[in-house]
Amino acid sequence: MSDRDGLIWLDGELVPWRDAKTHVLTHTLHYGMGVFEGVRAYKTDQGTAIFRLQEHTDRLFNSAKILRMNIPYSKAQLNEAQRAAVRENKLDSAYIRPMCFYGSEGMGLRADNLEVHAMVAAWTWGAYLGAENMEKGIRIKTSSYTRHHVNITMCKAKANGNYMNSMLALREALEDGYDEALLLDAEGYVAEGSGENFFLVKDGVIYTPDLTSALDGITRKTLMYLANELGIEIREKRITRDEVYIADEAFFSGTAAEVTPIRELDRRPIGAGARGPVTEKLQSLYFDIVHGRVEKYRHWLTYV
Ligand code: PMP
Repeated sequence: MSDRDGLIWLDGELVPWRDAKTHVLTHTLHYGMGVFEGVRAYKTDQGTAIFRLQEHTDRLFNSAKILRMNIPYSKAQLNEAQRAAVRENKLDSAYIRPMCFYGSEGMGLRADNLEVHAMVAAWTWGAYLGAENMEKGIRIKTSSYTRHHVNITMCKAKANGNYMNSMLALREALEDGYDEALLLDAEGYVAEGSGENFFLVKDGVIYTPDLTSALDGITRKTLMYLANELGIEIREKRITRDEVYIADEAFFSGTAAEVTPIRELDRRPIGAGARGPVTEKLQSLYFDIVHGRVEKYRHWLTYV
């Protein structure tokens, strides 16, 4: 990942990809106290555009606020950095990774003289859970790892350290032959995937867990808005794993995962064991919107 041509925005400048380095005593590397985003840009007829850029940047600043990290750039500067990372690498479509992290001015939990650094990288990244699975759907497993508790980690923050839990769950699911994990919250209710929000469809109604311990996903928010626009009822509620077993459809949402159908949980096929009609409708509308094919939602796009 680090040995390639290209440019990375680091602390206000575009630097050659291979030179975008940091010291081994980088504080965030030791304790995971940092914040990041995952953003996507898509090719449209009017040029490459970033989907819901402002919402991602707002969430980055909210994550930093929760961690009491002062980002030394404005939102406008980080928006421009994200556009530049796509534009200057001449990418038609891209996954964009902004991150803010503490420097190496001190070590230990008490260090209070730390500088905050910011970086933005962008590269081409196809369907996160596999192109063929966007139609076929994925097989998932209830994780043996519990999702974060609201008073142990800060669930509203997209914080680096939070992802140790995600990686443990995902690794377990992959090693057991599944495509992704479904994590339950500390009370045993469905929370989310390792990097996706969760939805199920039952009798024409869409249900999604409330945001107690799940990340406030921008794709989730988008799909909830679109479901309303399409006249499909959508409700936030506590969901149990056996409700998922007997659902008609299920899917994950996320910037990387986009809208990924789920065809099986814990060896129980969900519905017909394939992408369902409600999932397909939302998925195809989502792809039309991000590719700039729907006039009404062009205000969600920022051209690079
Ligand atoms: N939950 C987790 C844990 C995630 O990492 C992500 C990806 N950012 C999501 C949900 C989906 O969020 P979004 O739609 O904003 O990408």
